[in-house]
Amino acid sequence: MRLTFLGTGTARPLPDTAASGVLVQDGETAVLFDIGSGIASRLETTVGAGGLSGLVVGHFHADHWIDIAPLRYRFPWGERAPRPLPVYLPPGGHDKLEHLAAAIAERPGFFDAAFDVTEYESGRSFRIGSLTITPHPVGHYVPAWSMDIACRDGTRIVYAGDMGPSAGVVKLARGADVLILEATLESSAFDDARRGHLTPEEAIEHVALAGVPQGFLVHYPSDRRSIIRALCAESGVPVEPAVPGMTVEVECGPRPAPRRRARAGAQETVSTG
Ligand SMILES: [Zn+2]
Ligand SMILES: [Zn+2]
Repeated sequence: MRLTFLGTGTARPLPDTAASGVLVQDGETAVLFDIGSGIASRLETTVGAGGLSGLVVGHFHADHWIDIAPLRYRFPWGERAPRPLPVYLPPGGHDKLEHLAAAIAERPGFFDAAFDVTEYESGRSFRIGSLTITPHPVGHYVPAWSMDIACRDGTRIVYAGDMGPSAGVVKLARGADVLILEATLESSAFDDARRGHLTPEEAIEHVALAGVPQGFLVHYPSDRRSIIRALCAESGVPVEPAVPGMTVEVECGPRPAPRRRARAGAQETVSTG
């Protein structure tokens, strides 16, 4: 599988990156996970809207799905698209799209001619091309899902999306080849009591506890990239901040036993908050 990080930013506009969007390719299959602000144009530098096999959205915050509106304009205007794009949205997705159409002064059913929309369910797998995708609920400020992405040879990527500390995601990622986590916060003191984001230190801890051979951090302010890179390097855990446009070839490799971080005071378990 090939991963392309189309954006590594947060909800706040940044000069060097779009918001959330990860393209996963496996042979002829190309699936975009999240389409935050700026991602639709970044997509056109790769396979483009016409080259997509499907789109999967993890939750309804703007930095994860608002560019579904400009994406629509890459499809035929007055008639149904010859090959409507399979789009997988959280529960309530049909209504959300109708509200979005109204909000951008378009007619009812505006998205229907371009997209073949399915509202996914927690724990229920679906197929797009050669990929099998399973949504798992995580703790965020709104309902949100991590995506377990597997191809036929058993290679597996877990794209966690926005979430607070999650023992569930650590468990889910055990045996995966790559774990992609957010690293939004400078300090957990900036978060709500009921956690909805991670610090880089917490994200690194998740990678260590899951024992994955490769971790990537996304959803961080770009001006903290060098600090985050240093934290990753110091940790001794195989994790690094993804950078916008970065491509990674993911091979189904040997799977080491889960590693424990060797730092004093490291927690053996991750609380769900
Ligand atoms: Zn969010
Ligand atoms: Zn976000």
